[in-house]
This record gives sequence, structure tokens and C-alpha cells, in this order.
Amino acid sequence: MMNNMKSPSQQIGEFSITAISDGYLSASLDLLSNISPTDAFELQQGAGATDPSSIHINCYLVRGRGRTVLIDAGAGGFKQWGGQLQANLARAGVHPSDIDTILLTHAHPDHIGGLVDSSGDAAFPDAELVVHPHEVDFWEDDGHLGRASERARGNFLFARKVFDRYREKMRASTHDDILPGISAVPLPGHTAGHSGYRIESCNRSLLVWGDIVHFPQIQIAHPDVSIAFDQDPLLSADTRSRLLDVVSSDKLLIAGMHLGELGFAHIERAGKRYQMAYDT
Ligand SMILES: [Zn+2]
Ligand SMILES: [Zn+2]
Repeated sequence: MMNNMKSPSQQIGEFSITAISDGYLSASLDLLSNISPTDAFELQQGAGATDPSSIHINCYLVRGRGRTVLIDAGAGGFKQWGGQLQANLARAGVHPSDIDTILLTHAHPDHIGGLVDSSGDAAFPDAELVVHPHEVDFWEDDGHLGRASERARGNFLFARKVFDRYREKMRASTHDDILPGISAVPLPGHTAGHSGYRIESCNRSLLVWGDIVHFPQIQIAHPDVSIAFDQDPLLSADTRSRLLDVVSSDKLLIAGMHLGELGFAHIERAGKRYQMAYDT
């Protein structure tokens, strides 16, 4: 689908940001709360979704000010999800060793799977891995692991494996300024350390908002709809509502890991509802 398409791209002052597709994952609409699967299905169909229960996975390549940065790394084939990142990076002219920094929004498998290759080694051997300390603490806490469901247990073990591969090059995103022109924005609720990244240059800015939504056509119009992947459904709904208010008022360009293949959008207020308009 994406393969013959040029990857969507935006220029923010000195930075060029390119949406790099990793492909799709499949998730049931039953995982949504505060909406019936039937209503969710109808919203997806009304928005023209060919497969209403599939979720697109984007990563973002940021080039500028002498840096080549990747924000999240897709699923890398974990549970047969995604796996297109490397091919699409190559298509954008980027070799894995060109990536000097990887910024993680959080450590769910559809964001970190692409950090390891099929033999389990670091897929980006020269990259520093920047991640919120609460995120690392959460996945490495044996108490949380002990209380986890069977499905979640696999996520813990996988996150630990990936962190181990990058251990010597991990940096905690404790400071606002991660790199010149790029700052971390805490967006709590989806996971313990879920963070967005704001890119600013020459009076333009872009917010990469991570997993604020999984089904944008449903959750932007209905911000109270959470998904089972949200560790704290109420807090993530609250964060989503507040953020939609801010980004629509500020007319801020946004990018998100589950925003669709086009990758960049604005949020507009339409009466009492929000709606998304892609920037192409
Ligand atoms: Zn997630
Ligand atoms: Zn995700």
C-alpha cells in the first residue's frame, strides 16, 4: 500500500520530519471502552476504513541540525505486526547506522519491536536510546511483572530484552531539552512514562503525540473512548481531552504513531466535537 508512495514529510524550520510506515497491527474494536463495537465499526466504516480493526503504525524520522533521529521503531514483526520500517527507511535513503538517536514515546512492543533484528541484536547499533525513566522503571519492576496478565507478561519480557540491548547507550529523558530544538512532553496515562516530543525551529513547531489515539476516527470525536492498551484509562482519556483542546486552539501540527498512513494532521474544533484534518 505504502510501498509505492513517497513517505509523507513536513519541514519545521531546520528540521525535516518524515513519517516512516512500519505497516499494520490488528486489534479488535472490542478493546475500546465507552463505545459499543457496533458504533465503533460504523464510525470506522463511515471514515472509509477498509479494515475497521486494523491500526497503522508510524515512526518518524527527524533530520536537521546535524542529527538523524528516529522517534519510535515500530513493531518489527512482533506478533506479525508491522516489520516494514527498515525497508521504508532504506527507501528514504537512511541506513540503520545513520541513526544517532532514538526517542521513545513508550515501550509497548509496537514501538520497540523494530529496535532489535531477527537475531535479537540491536537494529540501530550506533544510536543512543532516549526514554522516560518512569517507563524503564515500570517494565523492569518485578512487582508489576508478577501482577501482569499472560498477555502483558510477554510485553514486560520483551521490553526488558530490548532495554538490555541498548543498556550502555540509554539516556533518561529527565530534561525538557532532549536535543537542540527537540523537547519531551509528558503525556501520562497510556503508560507510566508515555511522552510526546515537540520539535521547534524558526517559529514553527510540531508535536509527535505517541499513542494519544489508536483509532483516530473514533477517539478524536470521542476522547472518552479508551483502549485496553491504556494502562490508566481515565488518566489517558483526561490527557487526550486536554491535549485536543490545546492543539486545536494553538493550531499545532501533530504527528502520531497511530494516525494513519498520511502521518501529519491538525485538530479542528467542529461545534462541541473535534475532528482531524490531514496535512499533506
Ligand atoms: Zn502503546
Ligand atoms: Zn502503539
